[in-house]
Amino acid sequence: MLETSKPAGRRVVVLGTGGTIAGRARAAGDNLGYTAGEVGVAELLADVEAPPGTILLAEQVAQIDSKDMEFAVWQRLAQRCDAWLAQPDVAGVVVTHGTDTLEETAFFLQSVLAPGKPVVLTCAMRPATSLSPDGPQNVRDALAVAATPGASGVTVVCAGVIHGAHDVQKVHTYRLDAFASGDAGPIGYVEEGAVRCVRNWPSAPGGRAYPAIDLIAGLAQWPRVEIVTSHAGARGTLVDILVSEHLSASTPSRLDGLVAAATGNGTLHHALEAALLRAQAAGIAVVRATRCAEGRILAHPSAGLRDAGDLTPVKARVALMLELIAAGPRS
Ligand code: ASP
Repeated sequence: MLETSKPAGRRVVVLGTGGTIAGRARAAGDNLGYTAGEVGVAELLADVEAPPGTILLAEQVAQIDSKDMEFAVWQRLAQRCDAWLAQPDVAGVVVTHGTDTLEETAFFLQSVLAPGKPVVLTCAMRPATSLSPDGPQNVRDALAVAATPGASGVTVVCAGVIHGAHDVQKVHTYRLDAFASGDAGPIGYVEEGAVRCVRNWPSAPGGRAYPAIDLIAGLAQWPRVEIVTSHAGARGTLVDILVSEHLSASTPSRLDGLVAAATGNGTLHHALEAALLRAQAAGIAVVRATRCAEGRILAHPSAGLRDAGDLTPVKARVALMLELIAAGPRS
């Protein structure tokens, strides 16, 4: 852990988890052939100034490519955020993270912490060794948000834009401004260190965490929730195999939930829908989430499978896992 020798003030804690922002390539001109999660978080902060009146602290929580995100990292990250936020002199936490699963981690942290102080995830599309890396500016912007009085909840800061955990999605494979907030729009912008909000922060102080962080921290086995996609020519075979494995005494393979990445307003190919209804009847929790990048599923009373509203399939999966955790182990 590094504590920089800055004048005394409120602390802002930077938790490193890896990603392209901590990526290293052999050549400065190479923005593709790099290894994510190589540069330590203390090194990422070496040339970054603390926002006025704050002291920076760095802690390495993980060092991974976020495409390989695991529950154990989420568990540790949530615990470390919770512990730091409980310190009265900590203004907020910044998390450096890969872009690939950033929105899932943001949604997970918002769901389990609902923090009254800011937790700001940031990232980069170019490695730290790039001729022109985007990480340092993103870190500066994230620090500005974390030090902003009155800021709260989990946000993502990338390319000068502040997104809320609920709405943020990675929408571009290459552009530096790779994230968007869909219909909701961003929470605000960071302009030369000044935060300009255009809507409210994700959670009010004291917002209820669900399920409790203690439950997450002590969890030995996470629910297994798979995502299946509805598309032209879809079949129910995959779902039937998962359910029959689950039910089979000879090959016990637990399945707790299924998220159907549905077309349009939550519609499913009839063959897949029939299999999902069979899965639901067998005791598996089934949720429909739209494949559309924007909008929400408008519920209809005739639907046999519940929907995830405006959550994307990956976020609906996180929500369903947390719901199953909160409900406790199945008999
Ligand atoms: N694969 C990288 C990661 O998610 C991509 C990135 O950070 O941009 O860690």
